[in-house]
Amino acid sequence: MRLLDNAALFNGSQKQNYEVIFIFDEDYWRTSGRSPRQLKFAIDCLDELDTQLQKFKCNIRVFCGNFSEFCDWSNKFESIQFHVNHSTETEYFRNHFCYFKKNTKHHISVYQDFGIQLDTFDRDNWSSSWKKIMESKTYEAPLLNKDNFSILNTLPNVKDWTKSQKNRSDYIQPGGTAGAKKLLHSFFDHRANGYSRKMSNPQEAAYACSRLSPHFSFGSISIRQVYQATLKQMEHNLFVRDLASFKKRLFWHCHFIQKLETEPELEFQSMHYLCDSLREKENDELIEKWILGKTGFPFLDACMLYLRKHGWINFRMRAMIMSFASYNLWQPWQKTSPLLAELFTDFEPGIHICQVQMQSGVTGINLPRIYSVIKQSKDQDPNLTWTRSLLPSLNESNEAIHEANLVNYIRPIIDLKETSKHARDKIWGVRKKNDFQEIAKKVFIKHGSRRNTKRSV
Ligand SMILES: Cc1cc2nc3c(=O)[nH]c(=O)nc-3n(C[C@H](O)[C@H](O)[C@H](O)COP(=O)(O)OP(=O)(O)OC[C@H]3O[C@@H](n4cnc5c(N)ncnc54)[C@H](O)[C@@H]3O)c2cc1C
Repeated sequence: MRLLDNAALFNGSQKQNYEVIFIFDEDYWRTSGRSPRQLKFAIDCLDELDTQLQKFKCNIRVFCGNFSEFCDWSNKFESIQFHVNHSTETEYFRNHFCYFKKNTKHHISVYQDFGIQLDTFDRDNWSSSWKKIMESKTYEAPLLNKDNFSILNTLPNVKDWTKSQKNRSDYIQPGGTAGAKKLLHSFFDHRANGYSRKMSNPQEAAYACSRLSPHFSFGSISIRQVYQATLKQMEHNLFVRDLASFKKRLFWHCHFIQKLETEPELEFQSMHYLCDSLREKENDELIEKWILGKTGFPFLDACMLYLRKHGWINFRMRAMIMSFASYNLWQPWQKTSPLLAELFTDFEPGIHICQVQMQSGVTGINLPRIYSVIKQSKDQDPNLTWTRSLLPSLNESNEAIHEANLVNYIRPIIDLKETSKHARDKIWGVRKKNDFQEIAKKVFIKHGSRRNTKRSV
């Protein structure tokens, strides 16, 4: 959802008789991992784009229904050409979009988004093909439309439709390209100072990280625009080492999404299938306490409360939250993953699902890492000012809070040492099985990064 570097919008505008359609499917926004806070961000982007497109004499129309319904509806028209930007999505969207591609009587062009390989997947050349896409020219603004062009005028326009959506409020980052640009400039200008170090700490990271993730997820800025701007900055910016670390993460963004694109079954199955038998049964009560931030471990609960409030938390804390659910609570990641995704404004299925699997020890190609919530509490918030700001009722000593050994707080729902040992024994037990390495090799060939074979991600 952006004006510039938008392949579908640019190509679709070339004959100067075009309209933009937003497919609003209520059920999609209720499927696996989607939530009102993400929809709110999307609507911000849509509103802004609609205003920008007025200058190009173009309307955005809203079709309420799914892609299959849209397909059947649009087949009534004589001749339309569709231009669509691809997105790597979960099963619900994929199924409806496949129906649309198969059954539409109109011509359809689908453009690659991010640095993902669509039809010509080749892991060995992936890095160079990503670089080529990132360094290629960005798309310019669309062309001006013909006066009063409209064939979809039975559909509501965005302004009318968004009025009916105004009640969906949630306090989260605002969407839109203007906001994304502002974040990028302030990041280059001063916020990136110390980025590589500060990103681990939940309080510092909120300021020192770029915070561009929801903008990438909803397309209010492109990875290519940011990559090219970063390269330029690196020629003179004072925080060049921080920017190098940031640039690496832009690569990871697409690298992770490629995994789900290549193997959509990852939404439901572990990358290493032997790991699927590890955690078979869920415990709803434990999962509820975890997702509501009521585990009895103050630092972990503070992270969850922060995420619930702001729709974002830094990478390390996301990894710790997930590790706790999968290792200490021993819950199947398939159950916990969508609940966590709903809380992220930046939910990006490819990154999320693959990271969830990584932090649950089920990929076969990453060494399992169990985060200790007590160690993270001591490392990341030694004085507990951040934790206390989120849990103001905590009134005992710092040591008691770090160790979760409290009289006036929820009793820890599990024993940390015991559950970590249980998890280690189980995970290493499966990894010792005869065919584990053989299967892991195949996973690596399909999904492993060729950039650094020692730490394949
Ligand atoms: C369990 C778990 C779930 C996650 N789910 C998501 C998700 O749904 N959407 C999402 O965008 N990120 C997800 N991440 C990755 C990461 O935490 C976020 O990308 C990052 O915190 C976003 O903040 P930022 O934009 O300020 O990042 P910055 O540090 O400024 O990084 C810039 C960009 O690089 C990319 N990036 C950074 N770290 C990673 C990473 N480890 N893997 C892949 N790409 C990365 C993102 O696009 C990010 O916007 C998840 C991580 C974990 C451990």
